[in-house]
Amino acid sequence: MTQSHAMQPAHRPRILIIYTGGTIGMIENPSTGCLEPFDFTHLIDNVPKVRKLNFDIDNVSFTPIDSSDMSPAHWVEIVRTIGENYRLYDGFVLLHGTDTMAYTASALSFMLENLAKPVIITGSQLPIGEVRTDGEENLITALQIAAQTRDDGRPMVQEVAILFENYLWRGNRATKMSADNFNAFKSNNYPPLAQIGLGIHYNDDALYRRNERRPLRTHVTLDSDVMFIDLFPGITERTLRHQLATPGVKGIVLKTYGAGNAPTAPWFTSAIAEAIARGIVIVNVTQCVNGGVTKRYAAGDALSATGVISGADITAEAAITKMMHLFGLNLSPAEVAESFTQSLCGEITA
Ligand code: ASP
Repeated sequence: MTQSHAMQPAHRPRILIIYTGGTIGMIENPSTGCLEPFDFTHLIDNVPKVRKLNFDIDNVSFTPIDSSDMSPAHWVEIVRTIGENYRLYDGFVLLHGTDTMAYTASALSFMLENLAKPVIITGSQLPIGEVRTDGEENLITALQIAAQTRDDGRPMVQEVAILFENYLWRGNRATKMSADNFNAFKSNNYPPLAQIGLGIHYNDDALYRRNERRPLRTHVTLDSDVMFIDLFPGITERTLRHQLATPGVKGIVLKTYGAGNAPTAPWFTSAIAEAIARGIVIVNVTQCVNGGVTKRYAAGDALSATGVISGADITAEAAITKMMHLFGLNLSPAEVAESFTQSLCGEITA
């Protein structure tokens, strides 16, 4: 891990916090004992240390939700908020529940084309009001990362990233790995963008950098006519065909075994090939958390012969949101298939 020389902007860093909910801002309902989303004032009042940062911090608060209720409509709202405020702030911190954080991070990475400022997403496993909360540290570190610049004055992080406990991960490479551990996220096929210990140690080689600087372009159309199909030994032709025949479906992320392998039975390959012939784009991703789809076994080769696209080392979260984004651009199935294998913003090893 190489450590970059980190600085802060010449002016007081200007950061916009966008609050969407999640455990970080929740409080316990005494009658049910369950955690429920609560407002931003409660959250920020619990972190008086934020003032010590000496940043100019503004906030936009959405109706707080458990991130299980997150939807493309919320992503559009977040993207619009970032787009409208892009010039006014050095960086953005998005507070979000952990359950769907990796989906949001992936979606935003595609919707914010040419992003050159930090969008740091964080949350916590324990509510901010609890004594042992991880939320305070995550919020403070996310703000520091969002404010960090390089020697040339440009932002250190120029992409959508997830900050959680000891690591900063590329958003579209991250997956929620634990419902318990404070290190809840991991990017199994890509190194951390930074390690957080006594200092924040950036990994220069891993941070996303564009060759050309172009103005931010926001995409606010997503197509939800996509779905996952998860393989398991015993899957029947009836259930597979039923899923493939889902009305309106345009794209399917097929979760396969190991290096991208699937049953070789003729009924299986025929059902897949027929769906592709009907114009459905099918992308192969592995059920394994680490590694990707490779041309290693005949069982995987039989699947790719049907016209299934290799998702290589992309995460399932990035694959499904990339499909929503590409179909949202009104591309034809052939164009979606073609674009899918290319890296749009570091989500796949092309
Ligand atoms: N259910 C919560 C959410 O995703 C979990 C969390 O924030 O950790 O909103």
